[in-house]
Amino acid sequence: MIIVLKPGATNADVDHIIERVKSLGFETMVSRGVQRTIIGVIGEEERLRELPLAAIPGVEQVLPVLKPYKRASRELHEADTVVEVKGTRFGGGNFGIIAGPCAVESEEMTFAIAQRVSRAGAGILRGGAYKPRTSPYSFQGLKEEGLKILRAAADKLGMGVCTEVMDTRDVTLVAKYADIVQIGARNMQNYNLLSEVGLLEKPVMLKRGLSATVKELLMSAEYILRQGNERVILCERGIRSFEDSTRNTLDLSAVPNVHLNSHLPIIVDPSHATGRRDFIESMSIAAMAAGADGIMVEVHLEPEMALSDGAQSIEPDAFEALVSRLKELAPHLGKKTS
Ligand code: PEP
Ligand code: MN
Repeated sequence: MIIVLKPGATNADVDHIIERVKSLGFETMVSRGVQRTIIGVIGEEERLRELPLAAIPGVEQVLPVLKPYKRASRELHEADTVVEVKGTRFGGGNFGIIAGPCAVESEEMTFAIAQRVSRAGAGILRGGAYKPRTSPYSFQGLKEEGLKILRAAADKLGMGVCTEVMDTRDVTLVAKYADIVQIGARNMQNYNLLSEVGLLEKPVMLKRGLSATVKELLMSAEYILRQGNERVILCERGIRSFEDSTRNTLDLSAVPNVHLNSHLPIIVDPSHATGRRDFIESMSIAAMAAGADGIMVEVHLEPEMALSDGAQSIEPDAFEALVSRLKELAPHLGKKTS
C-alpha cells in the first residue's frame, strides 16, 4: 500500500505513521517528493488491505501498489536511482561503460586490456574470476588470484571492478575486491545469493536470467533491495529464443520496459546477448538509443586465444572506435558519458 501524506504533514507525523505500521508487523519505505511525502507499506497484501491506515493522523489517502515488486517499482520511488562507482554513473541520464575480458586469464593480459579500455573511456573493469561454465571441464576461473589481479589493474588506472559471485560462501571474499558485485544470468533466481548480496554495502549488478521475464528480473531485484542495498544495476544480456544465429536474443524493449516500471538503472550486455563480435557496435548504439544506462562489453587482446567467449570479444581498437562513436552520439540521445 502507498500512504500519501497530507501536504503539511510534519516529521513527527511521518515517525508516528512508521511506528504504527511497524508495530503491525509491516515494513516501510519513505519517499520524500517535492510536493508530498509518501510511505510505502510492504507486507502480505491480504492483511494489508484490512488495515485502517486512512485513520492515522496526517494520512490523506491510501492506495494499493499494483506491482508485485514494491521497492523496485516507480510507484514507491519516482525518481531514477543513480548508481555511482569511482566516478562512473549509471542511471538518471548517465551512461556508464564497463569493459574487460570475459575471464581473468593472467596478470599480464588483464593489465594490458585494462590499460586499453581505460584509455578508450571505460570507467569500470570487468572480468570473471569465478566462471559459470556449461561444461565442468572448461576453464572455471582463477578465483582469488583472479580477484587480486583485477583489483591491482583497476587501482593502477583509477577504475572500478565489476566481477561475478556465484556462491553465497564467496560473497565476502568477492566483495573485498569488487566495487560492483555481479550476479550472473544463471543465478538470477538464486534467492539466497540475492539476499546475501543485499546485505553488502556495495552496488550489485543483476543480470537477467536466460528465460526470465522483466517482471521476474524486478522480483529478483526486490530480494536485494529488501535487505537494505539500494544500489542495484540491472543488466539485459539477451534471452533464449528459437533464433540460433545469435547466442541469445537481445530484448532491447526490456530497457524502456524497466524504465517505465522501475527507478533502477538498466544496462545492456551486447556481448552475451549476441555472442558475435560483429554485432557489438550496432547493438551498443541501439542500446543507447533505447535509453540504456550503460553497456558492458567483453574485450580481449587476442580473441582467438581467449579461454572463454572469444567469438564475442572485440579487440581494443574496435572498443576504442565504439566508445568514441557513443560519445559522439550521447548528447543527441540525451545521455551523458562520464
Ligand atoms: C558474464 O558476464 O561474465 C557472464 C557469465 O554473463 P551471463 O551471466 O549473462 O551469462
Ligand atoms: Mn563471457
